[in-house]
Amino acid sequence: MELSRELLTAELIDPGTGEPARTTIEVRHDPLTGHSSRILPERGLMPASDFDLETFARESQPGCPFCPGRVDQLTPKLPASIHPDGRITRGEAVLFANLHAYSSHSSVSVYSPRLHYLPLGQITRRLLTDNLAAQVAFAQAVMAADPRSRWASINANHMLPSGSSLFHPHMQGIVDAQPTTMQRLLTEVSAQRYDAYLDAERRLGERYLGNTGRFEWIVSFAPIAPAELRAFAAGISSPSELDDDLIAELAHGLALALGAYAEMGFQSFNCAIYGAPPAGEGYPLNLRLACRSNLKAFYRSDSTFLERLHWEGAVDVAPEVVARRIGDRFRR
Ligand SMILES: [Zn+2]
Repeated sequence: MELSRELLTAELIDPGTGEPARTTIEVRHDPLTGHSSRILPERGLMPASDFDLETFARESQPGCPFCPGRVDQLTPKLPASIHPDGRITRGEAVLFANLHAYSSHSSVSVYSPRLHYLPLGQITRRLLTDNLAAQVAFAQAVMAADPRSRWASINANHMLPSGSSLFHPHMQGIVDAQPTTMQRLLTEVSAQRYDAYLDAERRLGERYLGNTGRFEWIVSFAPIAPAELRAFAAGISSPSELDDDLIAELAHGLALALGAYAEMGFQSFNCAIYGAPPAGEGYPLNLRLACRSNLKAFYRSDSTFLERLHWEGAVDVAPEVVARRIGDRFRR
């Protein structure tokens, strides 16, 4: 597989010198969906922030419905047909119904009621394992109770710039009778194309991060969002098919990636684990993980008319730079 890229050149007259100047923009196409992405010269579009997240956490804590003492009273329960207790717990993680549903079956799962403040560098493998396990149990329970709902995804908006309306860190599950646009596009890709993409990245090496067992991790060739990573697991197509070993392995990979984001100065991320219906022949369960702008007053959103209205990524953090920053942590 040839990874498609094209160089564009912009010409302008420098306002300081009055001389002509040129800028190069690289346009890449995602090998799976064909989405295009613009890799810009480094312009400082994703600045690190010295915003005091811990103080903001304390300020937003009074009245937080996900904190201890309130989570049981203020969050909605699941219907008894999904779970007799109304909530699903795994370790410290607690999963409940999403008050603001996005689908027939919408869940919210906190890493822990006690973790109102949870910066990226402190999201451990254990916390991720428990939270993912709660979401997997939710997907399984929904599919058993409502066999039409076969499309499951596990997602995260972490911190306000990512779309999270509540500060308290959590994941979100969606299980529905129909796919989202991206789930549909990803399931239309052939098994051969997934194999060819991963083969190409393994061979080229510059964006390939490693294999944690069943999951292969790469930096996106044509990212939709900054510092975007992808992971693929052949042989399973839905989060509902993740067993305890695979949940722990996925949690390990996510913890490595979030630790790297923390080192790179990022505080906010989105994640989507795109499920297809279970036992989907040739579809590898896969995910996207990407950074969002840091939380601070008058911040610049990383999502512009290009991402929102043209469905086109534009990032000034080159994927190859992200891969070098992450280094060999997936190979240890
Ligand atoms: Zn809280």
